[in-house]
Amino acid sequence: LRANFSEVLDENGETSGIITVLSDVTEQEKIERERREFVANVSHELRTPLTTMRSYLEALTDGSTWKDEQIAPKFLSVTQNETERMIRLVNDLLQLSKMDNKDYQLHKERLNYIDFIHHIVDRFELNISEDITIERKIPEKNYKVWVDKDKITQVLDNIISNAIKYSPEGGEILIEVSEQNHQLLTKVTDEGVGIPEENLEKIFERFYRVDKARSRKLGGTGLGLAIAKELIEAHDGEVWANSIENQGTTITFRLPLMQQKRGGRA
Ligand code: ADP
Repeated sequence: LRANFSEVLDENGETSGIITVLSDVTEQEKIERERREFVANVSHELRTPLTTMRSYLEALTDGSTWKDEQIAPKFLSVTQNETERMIRLVNDLLQLSKMDNKDYQLHKERLNYIDFIHHIVDRFELNISEDITIERKIPEKNYKVWVDKDKITQVLDNIISNAIKYSPEGGEILIEVSEQNHQLLTKVTDEGVGIPEENLEKIFERFYRVDKARSRKLGGTGLGLAIAKELIEAHDGEVWANSIENQGTTITFRLPLMQQKRGGRA
């Protein structure tokens, strides 16, 4: 604990009292340490793609490599991928920084969750490669939630794109929705590499990746699940992971279900 004293003077300049402020230094130190780590992480994450791009561009401008019809397109495509990853990273950072702001607001609306999730899965199915399949176990119920639609879309995008990213060829992804104690559970299960037990909680931390090199190669930023967790918690929900290494991973989140009006459809 740290104590700060300041004198309170009356209109004649005489001491009329003393204000003592006690502050919890350990909490402040922790926040300060996390802030420093965050800045170090961001710098590192930005430097990596930049140095990669620099070496490829240097190689291209060196001699006549840029004229080489075999090599030049490959090198340019690397720099393009790195640029795209950097844009994703900066967008993710902006999103997190918005959420850290006290004035951050959600634009909630009443949403038919089942129609909504079918729509999201349809969109993924249009874009995934043929060797990955998505199965649905989604009941035909009239489940209503009170959510910011764009934000929950982002949560699902992050979780489902991870399931796809970490799936093996020919893998199946299962998307399940169920009800439990007035809560709506959404589960996304894949047959991918899995996550070691001791890392299961850490994957929701900013920049944490089980395998940094693999995540980078797949275009990851290490921020997707941290954003998902903050968004779900802002909706009074919860998100967690279960996994068996080399067998697969399930990411589950729950959201409060809107109370149905009495006499309304179940
Ligand atoms: P990234 O951009 O690296 O995917 P995320 O925040 O989305 O970042 O995820 C953090 C880490 O959690 C990933 O780097 C990966 O190690 C692990 N992870 C997330 N989802 C899965 C999954 N479905 N299967 C295996 N590992 C996963």
